[in-house]
Amino acid sequence: MRIAIIIEPTCNLCGECVSYCPTRVYKIEENKLTYNSEKCIYCRACEPLCPQKAIKIKVEHNTLKHKQITTTKYF
Ligand code: SF4
Ligand code: SF4
Repeated sequence: MRIAIIIEPTCNLCGECVSYCPTRVYKIEENKLTYNSEKCIYCRACEPLCPQKAIKIKVEHNTLKHKQITTTKYF
């Protein structure tokens, strides 16, 4: 499972997500919001918290890789 974090341009760098995220995914550096999605535990607390509704958290499943593994098993 891979987590994708999408920040919409409506983000106004208020810093709420930076202080709230339990695993410190977000940082504000040089007037930009940066994030490390590898630290995200998918609690989804930051989505409703953002006053600008600028955060979208998604799960990406790698189904192709899964298919390749199961196919190999039967040959
Ligand atoms: S809470 Fe929303 S508006 Fe504030 S810094 Fe985070 S993404 Fe930007
Ligand atoms: S979903 Fe949870 S862990 Fe992931 S960035 Fe948001 S608050 Fe942090």
